[in-house]
Amino acid sequence: MLAIDDAIRELRNLGARRILLQLPDGLKPAVFDYFSALSAEFSVIVSSEPFYGACDIGNREVYGKVDAIVQLGHSVIPNIDYPLPVIFVEYRNNAIVKLDSETFDPLREAKFNRVGLLASIQYMEQMQQVKDALRGSGFEVRVGEQDSRMAYPGQVLGCNFSAAHSLSAWADCYVVVSTGRFHGIGAQLASDKPVFILDLNERKLVPMAEETEKFLRRRYARISGARDAKKFCVVVDTKIGQYREKLARTIMKQIMDMGMQSVLLTANDARPSDYENMKCDAVIFTGCPRVPIDEADRFPMPILTPPEFQSLFGIKRGGRYVMDEIVAVDRQD
Ligand code: SF4
Repeated sequence: MLAIDDAIRELRNLGARRILLQLPDGLKPAVFDYFSALSAEFSVIVSSEPFYGACDIGNREVYGKVDAIVQLGHSVIPNIDYPLPVIFVEYRNNAIVKLDSETFDPLREAKFNRVGLLASIQYMEQMQQVKDALRGSGFEVRVGEQDSRMAYPGQVLGCNFSAAHSLSAWADCYVVVSTGRFHGIGAQLASDKPVFILDLNERKLVPMAEETEKFLRRRYARISGARDAKKFCVVVDTKIGQYREKLARTIMKQIMDMGMQSVLLTANDARPSDYENMKCDAVIFTGCPRVPIDEADRFPMPILTPPEFQSLFGIKRGGRYVMDEIVAVDRQD
């Protein structure tokens, strides 16, 4: 169970009485424990909506009914203007990492000396340990500087690799401290330098180039399915940290300038049956980039990120795939 003492202190300081509790699926088995710990002092209601991260603080209807939200597992997205206090209780893995110098042999073999270091939120503590281990093994190491969407240096999200970009002129390669592949592939898509995942379970570096190539082949096959589309649904996701209406309107104009049809839609969840019902040939989704990338199989029609659409139709030229990254979102007034 995550320590929620600080959150309770903060709620007291806020004078909050009514709390909405958001838990990711991985923490839901402990919901009774969290509920009873908070209910001792506050009136708590648990959100059973699926939620995605700090970009998603649930349905607007609930905001007026609670004094604060407690969200477990994620770190704040600093440049979101949250309409009520949100207390983030981060999930951090505190295990001590012991790495042999041989772990870094793939970097030596490739003659990489300057290493850009990145991590997902749960591995922030380990990132510091890995930094020391790399330095102790003779490498130059820098932790990437984040932009204002990210809470910590070196931190990456599925929609933001600013920490990698900040080192693009310096680094020979990147090491992402994480167990899953998603952030490694994302960093590789966002960078033209080689990316390795440091898998802490296996204690080994895994190069991302080959998996990223496979991903791109699948992705290009999907994207090209939209080449003959004539009717587009352009979707704005209403989640507070995914709301990019201005971008959606730009895409709409680009579609119409090419003589094709488009409609602008809002959605809190992208529903394939809705788009099917509207008989659209392709969807351009301006919310979380993971939806088109990870959930393409749910959709009977091609679903593209904005940069994918712009590159398919030659609006933005350039040799390499452009990852959709969110730097900032529009205000919803
Ligand atoms: S937009 Fe997607 S990748 Fe970014 S924080 Fe939200 S859920 Fe995560």
